[in-house]
Amino acid sequence: MGELATEKHTKYILQIEKKKDDNIESVLTEHLRINGAYWGLTTLDILGNLKAVEQEAVVSWVLSCQHESGGFGGNVGHDPHLLYTLSAIQILTLFNKTHILNIPKLTSYISALQNEDGSFSGDQYGEIDTRFSYLAICSLALLKSLDKINVEKAVKYIISCKNLDGGFGCTPGAESHAGQIFCCVGALAITGSLHYVDKDLLGWWLCERQVKSGGLNGRPEKLPDVCYSWWVLSSLIMIDRVGWIDKEKLVKFILECQDFENGGISDRPDDAVDVFHTYFGVAGLSLLEYPGLKPIDPAYALPVDVVNRIFLE
Ligand SMILES: [Zn+2]
Repeated sequence: MGELATEKHTKYILQIEKKKDDNIESVLTEHLRINGAYWGLTTLDILGNLKAVEQEAVVSWVLSCQHESGGFGGNVGHDPHLLYTLSAIQILTLFNKTHILNIPKLTSYISALQNEDGSFSGDQYGEIDTRFSYLAICSLALLKSLDKINVEKAVKYIISCKNLDGGFGCTPGAESHAGQIFCCVGALAITGSLHYVDKDLLGWWLCERQVKSGGLNGRPEKLPDVCYSWWVLSSLIMIDRVGWIDKEKLVKFILECQDFENGGISDRPDDAVDVFHTYFGVAGLSLLEYPGLKPIDPAYALPVDVVNRIFLE
């Protein structure tokens, strides 16, 4: 087993940032550009290499993705959505630049997406999902504007998506899934509502996600995948049950998914790398207290020092 290839991963991310827009990968993910930027930049910060990025250029590009409505699109000229809005806020938070935003406009875009029952739509087209509850709550918390929504109703809706296995689904009655559990537990953590979680029951379901290789899956019978290192681990940490998994085996699994030659991390050993799994691998290792990495906050998905800068100042 090799160690974490910090320099290779840094190079890999910096080179994606510079890639021309005409390759197939960036055409397919063009609408996700702002998410990709968040994954890449947060990885660099955890690795201690955020300074290698041209901050001014990134910040002005992020601002150019803002729509008239106040929400952000995935790229310049794209429709706004909560998915992209949180990434934009997270990037500006990383660079300590949220003060340049028109915060009243942005918060009114987000609060207008809350529905009567407390749920959130992701955008003007109205699809409802507990992921969107997390995105809205995390965004507003980072802007210190949670008072702009009905938090009590938002929490009540999330609780209505809790299942008998202790997990959470995207809407009431939908099956439990690790990604969804992260969103619900994260939103409950941010709003100080973790007492609604059945921690032992959920902790059991989450630690059962670890398979023989040490990796974690997202649902029973599925293959392990590096991205679940984040969704499952962060949830276990928030409910104080992370001691229930074999951390050493998970570290080994993540390290085996590295491309030692060109940098980057894949979903499983020997697959192609991408920025999404590189972020979740490095963030997972940070949650596992891998040496040399900045600690990451399990609820806000930003480095702890960045979160402290907002809330302790
Ligand atoms: Zn994955």
